Amino acid sequence: MIPVSNPRANYLAHKDEIDEAIARAVSSGRYIVGEETEAFEEEYAEFIGTQHCVAMSSGTSALEMLLRALEIGPGDEVVTVSHTATGTVAPIVMVGAKPVWADTSGGLMSPQSAEKCITPRTKAILPVHLYGEACNMTRLKEIADFHGLYLIEDACQAHGARHNGRRVGSWGIAGFFSHYPTKNLACLGDGGSITTDNKMLASKLREMRFYGWDKHKSTDIVCGQSRLSEIQAAVLRVKLKYLDEENARRRIIAKRYSSAFPKALVGDREQVMWPLHGQVDETNVFHQYVLESTRRPRMMKLLKEAGIGVSIHYPHWVRQQSAYGNYGHSRGVSSSTVMSIPMYPELTNRQISSVIDEVNKAASAAWYS
Ligand SMILES: *Cc1c(COP(=O)(O)O)cnc(C)c1O
Repeated sequence: MIPVSNPRANYLAHKDEIDEAIARAVSSGRYIVGEETEAFEEEYAEFIGTQHCVAMSSGTSALEMLLRALEIGPGDEVVTVSHTATGTVAPIVMVGAKPVWADTSGGLMSPQSAEKCITPRTKAILPVHLYGEACNMTRLKEIADFHGLYLIEDACQAHGARHNGRRVGSWGIAGFFSHYPTKNLACLGDGGSITTDNKMLASKLREMRFYGWDKHKSTDIVCGQSRLSEIQAAVLRVKLKYLDEENARRRIIAKRYSSAFPKALVGDREQVMWPLHGQVDETNVFHQYVLESTRRPRMMKLLKEAGIGVSIHYPHWVRQQSAYGNYGHSRGVSSSTVMSIPMYPELTNRQISSVIDEVNKAASAAWYS
C-alpha cells in the first residue's frame, strides 16, 4: 500500500538527527517555550523572510490568537474561502466574527471575487494557499491595502512556497502555519507558528501564549494559551534544514504526475479525470497532488484495490458543514470531484511509476464500466 502521505518515512529519513534533537530537548529540563523554541522561531523567520516568528500549539490556535490580537470579533467580517480546511474558518466564528466566502479559481481565492465581498464591516482578507500553491498575493495585497484591511495568510499547507520570489507568510500583517504531522514542515505531534514583521503584534502574541499575561502576570485580553513544546521545536529545527530540498522533490514528483495525466484522458464526450494543478514551479510546494474525476467513487475503489492510497481534501467545503452553513454561497472546485493521490518526498521512482500506471488504468476502467 502506497499511502497519500507518510510522516513515518520522513522521520526515518532523518532518524538519527531527530532522535538526537529529542534527547537534547528532553535532558534540558525545560519543556515548553524555551531555547529550542526560540531558536526555531529565529530560524523560521529567517527562512520565511519576516522579522518575527511566534511558535504556537497548532495552526487553528495560531489563527485564533492572531484574530484576538488584531481585535477582530463580533460585528466584524473576514473575507475567506469555503474551499479549505475547517481550521481556517473555525477560529473566525469562535472569536464571534463572520466569514464571508469569496469564489475560488483553480482552488485558490479569486482576488476579483474577494474585492466584491468587502463591506463596511470587513476587517481582514484571509486567503488560503491550498494544496501548497501560493495565491495571487500581489493582487490580494493591493486590494487589502487599498481598502485598509488586514491581510492574513493561511499558509498551513504551503511552507516555503513563493509568489514573485517572496515566500508566503511574509505578504500580509501575518501568516500562520500548522506543523501537524502530515504537513510539509511537520513535527511529531501538534504545532503551529505565526510569521510577521510587526513587532508589537509579535510581542502581544508572545504574551498570549501565556493567557495574555504582561510582566506583572496581569492581562487586558481574554485568551487561553497556545504553546509549542521544546521537543517539537527541536524536531522542527532538524526538518527545516531539509524543507527546500524536500519541496523540490515534491515538485519533481508533481511534474511526472502532470505529464502522465493529460487533461483529456479517456473518451471523447466526457473527461473522466484531470489534474487540478497548473504549471509546476516555485509557487507550489505540492502539499497534496489533486486530481478531479467525474467518476471518483469508482476510481477510488479501484485504486484502493490496487494498493494506491487516495483520499479527499475535503469531502465537504466549510460552508457545506452544518456548523457553518448559514453564510451564503460561493463558486469554485466541486468537493465531489477532488481526490488526492500519494505525495511525499520519500516516494521512490518505482512507486511513482506504479501510482501513474494504476491511476491511468483506473481511469480507463472507470470510463468503460
Ligand atoms: C492543517 C490546516 C489548518 C489547521 O491546522 P491545525 O494545526 O490542524 O490546527 C488550517 N488551515 C489549513 C489550510 C490547514 O491545512
